[in-house]
Amino acid sequence: MENLALTYSILHRISETDIHGLSRDEAAQLAHTLAIVLHAHSHRYYVLDQPVIADAEYDRLFRALQSIEAHFPALKTLDSPTQRVGGAVLDGFQKHQHPQPLLSLGNVFSEGDLRAWYDRCIKGLLPIFGETQPELLVELKIDGLAIALTYEKGRLVMGATRGDGQTGENVTENIRTIRSIPLQIPVSEDKNPPPIPDRIEVRGEIYMRKSDFQTYNERLRAEQKPPIANPRNGAAGSLRQLDSKMTAKRPLSFFCYGIGPVSGELPDGLFEMEEQLEAWGFPVNPHKARYSDLDAVVDLIKKWTNQRESLDYEIDGLVIKINRFDHQQALGFVSNAPRWAVAYKFPSLEVTTRLENIELSIGRTGVVKPVALLTPVSVGGVVVSRATLHNEDYIVSRDIRIGDMVLIKRAGDVIPQVVQAIVEARTGTEQAWNFKDACTAAGLPVQRYEGEADYYTTLTNTPEQLTAAIEHFTGREAMDIEGLGGKMAALLVEKGLVKALPDLYHLKKDDLLALPAFAEKKAQNLLDGIEASKNRSLARLIWALGIRFVGQTTGQLLVPYIESLEKLLVTTVEDLQTIEGIGPKIAESIVSWSSTPQNIALVQALKEAGVRTERMPEEAQKTITTDLPLSGKTFVITGTLPTMGRTEAAQRIQQAGGKVTDSVSKKTHFLVAGENAGSKLEKAQKLQIVVLDEAQLLQMIEIPAPKKP
Ligand code: NAD
Repeated sequence: MENLALTYSILHRISETDIHGLSRDEAAQLAHTLAIVLHAHSHRYYVLDQPVIADAEYDRLFRALQSIEAHFPALKTLDSPTQRVGGAVLDGFQKHQHPQPLLSLGNVFSEGDLRAWYDRCIKGLLPIFGETQPELLVELKIDGLAIALTYEKGRLVMGATRGDGQTGENVTENIRTIRSIPLQIPVSEDKNPPPIPDRIEVRGEIYMRKSDFQTYNERLRAEQKPPIANPRNGAAGSLRQLDSKMTAKRPLSFFCYGIGPVSGELPDGLFEMEEQLEAWGFPVNPHKARYSDLDAVVDLIKKWTNQRESLDYEIDGLVIKINRFDHQQALGFVSNAPRWAVAYKFPSLEVTTRLENIELSIGRTGVVKPVALLTPVSVGGVVVSRATLHNEDYIVSRDIRIGDMVLIKRAGDVIPQVVQAIVEARTGTEQAWNFKDACTAAGLPVQRYEGEADYYTTLTNTPEQLTAAIEHFTGREAMDIEGLGGKMAALLVEKGLVKALPDLYHLKKDDLLALPAFAEKKAQNLLDGIEASKNRSLARLIWALGIRFVGQTTGQLLVPYIESLEKLLVTTVEDLQTIEGIGPKIAESIVSWSSTPQNIALVQALKEAGVRTERMPEEAQKTITTDLPLSGKTFVITGTLPTMGRTEAAQRIQQAGGKVTDSVSKKTHFLVAGENAGSKLEKAQKLQIVVLDEAQLLQMIEIPAPKKP
């Protein structure tokens, strides 16, 4: 795409330019270029459903043009991208003239801008309603595409996309394949629904659930077809299939959030209207609420900025609307958006940058992962220079090459990942990368087990493995040795001071003092921490050893049955499988670990070094699981919870009668997810398992959340 190089240079230019300091001619030239690139990207986004820059990058270009036009109003043209609703009508579809335009939304990116918008609304209402604080309706901004559904006498007669706002595409046949869209309303007479108007246009968002997106991409991969980049493109591309049988194969969902023309009486406000729509059988997003002041809305923004990843659909912000219809009418519209609503956009987590190289990283279990080395770039305020590329299949299916411009995403605090290569930006100098060749070049023998996506090195005790093993062993939830993180572990390995885990317990103060930046106090603190770690619980010690598939919870499940680490060495797969929550995979992994001579020697050496290998007396108790709030419920915990460690959360669940296991399966009832939730969250969403945050968990247990210090 020829405009891509121009886009990158202009993105760079606007980040360095003070628009207010430009001369009129310079501003006119910049505005002209911005309009060209914005048009080109709009076309790729709305017509081809194949954007090649991140939304936030598009928004930056858009805001730059808005800012020039605000400063030099004469430069604002009628066909400027800032004055139009993005989108166009695809050939092949019948056109549908919207009886009332479908508009876009104005965006705000800060609390200050949001307050300024609210003040403008108050001012706008003043002449008609006098001094008033208009009621607000706040909803999630679902990242999909807008649709207008017309019902006549309760029957769906038209489904149309937004198009350019005036004219959309008639996609009625495709709409009929989406199960959550009622073909006839009311869907049920059970709840005594309000009477149906003769004609009503219902507006909402078609979107693809994250779990459906994953399943759909898996299917595409199995069919050797390129995966779709994100749920939004998936939804837009699916809805605008000329063959509705193709749409029917793709999992789409719907939430309604508004209305167009309606015959007959309306309730007072949109919130009340949405309640009616719900009563008629339309899916309305449950996270909507009315507020009488903006402070509560600001709190809500903070909440959703942190929690958006916990949903099974993507949201890119919140929509704040003036609720009452008479207020809305009084405020009216600007050229492409209502004045009575605004979108608060979350800080973006996606950005494009260059993939400079790919490095291999070896984890403590010997897993070998490809890591992208990127031209450093700021994503949501954090500078990112490395991102995961997951595994060989991920790279191959997305045809990711060294030198490519790539889209990267930081979801919550999860390690950033490369989402896709921007094929259109290729210059021909990019180089394909082969996982196995890279391993061979690095002298790393690897093997891939059946059914697994990862390769494992057959080498043991590489410096990387040992460093990762020490980092895990000394971690807060494991042996909890303060001051012994990844960097320190790498240093101890590099200097040859630790060749195996038990060596930690033989470190001398002089050894530490010889290390860079080590003084007496720091050395003593570390030695004290190591000494204190000799007396941790058996559950922690088992987890600290890093046995494959043995998570923190497995340790806790084991200890009522196994009184010491030595006993673990002699258990059988059959014995282990009698323990609730331990399946064949974990049992086999433990037995394979226990029968390796190296590990038998490790247990012996830890004991000789003075590490407690017997369980604590309280660990012998089995959990009582009857008549308690969580009896019969199985939980998995993932990520970092705001106030509790995972061990504490697991203990609380167990005290309340629940069972905690390490891996998500169909038998899991709830996933408790905190920050950094990764693949477990994805799997839970795929299996449609209820995801809870810490506060919701505590509510279920009916124990008040611990107060933050
Ligand atoms: P928008 O997505 O910023 O906001 C308007 C839309 O929000 C509405 O049309 C509606 O479909 C949707 N919406 C979701 N939940 C809603 C709710 N609860 N209430 C009301 N509306 C709701 O505006 P837009 O004009 O659709 O798209 C513009 C955005 O698209 C840009 O800000 C940019 O992020 C993205 N874009 C990206 C590229 C690219 O190349 N990456 C190109 C063009 C546009």
